This record gives sequence, structure tokens and C-alpha cells, in this order.
Amino acid sequence: MADTLNILPIDQWFEEKIQTPLIIAGPCSAENENQVLSTAEAIAKIPNVTIFRAGVWKPRTRPGSFEGAGKKALKWLQKVKQITNLKIAVEVATPEHVKDCIDAGIDVLWIGARTTSNPFSVQQIAEGLHNCTIPVLVKNPINPDIDLWIGAIERISQSGVNKIAAIHRGFFPFEKTSLRNIPKWEIAIELMTRYPNLPILCDPSHISGHTDFIKEISQKALDLTFDGLMIESHISPTEALSDKMQQLKPNELSELLNSLHFRQVNINDIEIIDKLETFRSKIDSIDYQLLELLIQRMKVVEEIGLYKSHNNISILQLRRWKEIIETRVEQGLKLGLENDFIKQILQLIHDESIRKQTEVVYKSSENKKG
Ligand code: PEP
Ligand code: MN
Repeated sequence: MADTLNILPIDQWFEEKIQTPLIIAGPCSAENENQVLSTAEAIAKIPNVTIFRAGVWKPRTRPGSFEGAGKKALKWLQKVKQITNLKIAVEVATPEHVKDCIDAGIDVLWIGARTTSNPFSVQQIAEGLHNCTIPVLVKNPINPDIDLWIGAIERISQSGVNKIAAIHRGFFPFEKTSLRNIPKWEIAIELMTRYPNLPILCDPSHISGHTDFIKEISQKALDLTFDGLMIESHISPTEALSDKMQQLKPNELSELLNSLHFRQVNINDIEIIDKLETFRSKIDSIDYQLLELLIQRMKVVEEIGLYKSHNNISILQLRRWKEIIETRVEQGLKLGLENDFIKQILQLIHDESIRKQTEVVYKSSENKKG
């Protein structure tokens, strides 16, 4: 099913070419006119930011929290458009939200994580988007289910929208961790691999849950060739009505963006390509040798298995295992490898050796019986 999506690159979404990596920033929620305008005016001064985000209808986990200012906030966002050169992005969860946003001239829509998790809601939104040319960003669902995420993207695509990007905002952790949502980068990488032409942005604010981790997560996303970032920023985070711990002040956002390394993704320089190729072929050859050595080791393991079986010796010899760990860690450390890395590799090799020997011993005693 790969490659079946008809998707335009981000820099062709609007009449004018926009900056990539795409930076979207703004408050978690539009709370009042003053908060929206003062945040937007400060953000508009940051050259890298192209789109201003604000939640108007907020999906809250439990009732009773601030659920967004609703439709009247769209007027504040229209003012932002008039007084700055920022484009505006709003979260939608129903076809009515889609209609209100389109009528208000909103430039970009996004589907939140809780909504992506529900195919009925996504389908209704998709139907509401029929014949629309507005870009739609699809956040990953709360649970780490790549097909649910792809399904939502497909539904939007099937409604005729060709300006689509995914947003990676992390997955709900079952255990408490220092991050609010677990990044599980491998899922985002899998999405990039399956749909190479689908732009993917990262939302480090909802992954982090705290301003402390936003830089680290943003840099990681850029290093993994994400096409942009969506970062929460509020003029006065301590007074925010939602997500106050994770919102940066506009000046902090500016500092953060200045400190990030936007590395080159498209490598044109022939010399660089050649050099990279040389490194890669060295790695290919070393990996091949590693595999060869592993299979040689496994063959010896099989021989020992048979020997142990014939002589009625137990498979696991704890004293020997202790000796292996000690000597190999010592050798590895001398060579400059990390302690944990050596131990983990040895543990994996040892587990596989025990499994292989058990198989050999079992087969050999079956043969004896037979
Ligand atoms: C948000 O962007 O403010 C939001 C509600 O995010 P998510 O859907 O990722 O939880
Ligand atoms: Mn938020």
C-alpha cells in the first residue's frame, strides 16, 4: 500500500514558497484576545516561524477543565492574520469545526491525537473536507498503532486533500516516565519508510510535557530528517489555562530555534556523496564480518552442545559464563567500548547459544531414544 498517497511537498502548499523545515508555533489554547494577539505579535518577530497555532476547541481528558474559547476565538485568529504575516493553524475534531475554520479563512487544520484514534470521527472530518484545498496535519493516535495513524491519513487523502503531513507527538506511556509521551521514534521512521513523500513534523511540546526536554527532542527530530516542528508558546506560560508546563515564552522559543542545528538533508555535493559511500561500504564490510564470526561461534556452540550431551554435562555452566563476562568486559573496556554495551551484546549472544545448545541436546537425546 506504500506510495499510493497523492501528496504535495510542503513548499508547494501555498502560493508563495514557505520556509522548510516548517516551524509552527503558538499557544496550546486561544484563551482571550489579548493573550492571542500578544503571543502572536512576539512570535511574528521570530524569522523561522511561518504558522501560528492555537487550539480553539480543546479535547480534554476529563470534563471540567478549560475546553477552549470556541468559535469566537476564530475572530482573534483572523486579527493575527491581519496584523502579522503568520498563517494560522487550528485543531478540528468535527465537520462543523472544519466548516467554521474554512469560513474564517484559517490556513491549516490539524487533527489531534485523541481524534485520530477514532476512525468514525476522522471519516466525518474527511467528508467535511471534500473539495477543500486546505492543508491538513494528522497527529499520531494516542496508542502506538501505525495502521490507525496511516488509516486516518488515507481517509483524509481519499477526500481529495493533497496537502497532508503527519505530526509525531509521542504515545501514551503506561508507566510514568520523565517524558509526557514516549517518542517511539521507530514508528515515525517506519512511516517515513512506507510513505517517503509524506511530510512528517514533530511536536516536541506534547512529547516532552515539560519545557526542559523540548530542545533535545526537537534536535533529535531534525537529525532524523523530520520536515518541521510544532512547538507550543505562550506569552505567559504560568498563567496558561492548558499545558502550562510545556509552553515556552516567545523569547525562549526564539533562543531554542537559534540553538538548533538544521542539518542539510539533500546532499548534492558529489564529494560528500563519495565520502559517505566510502564510510558506508566500510560499515557494510564490517557488518558482514561480524555476521560471519557469529555463525562461526554458533557452529562451535553446536559442537559443544553435542559434546555435553554425550558426556551428560549441564548446558549452563555458571562459572564459565562469569568468566566470559569478566574477561570480555575487561578486553572491551581496554579497546574503548562501553561497559553496558559489551554486557548487553554478550548477554544476547549467550542467550542464543543456550537456546541453540538446548535444541542440539534435545535432538541428540531424541535420536538416542530412537
Ligand atoms: C494540542 O496540540 O494542543 C493537543 C491537544 O495535542 P495532542 O492532540 O497531541 O494531545
Ligand atoms: Mn497542548
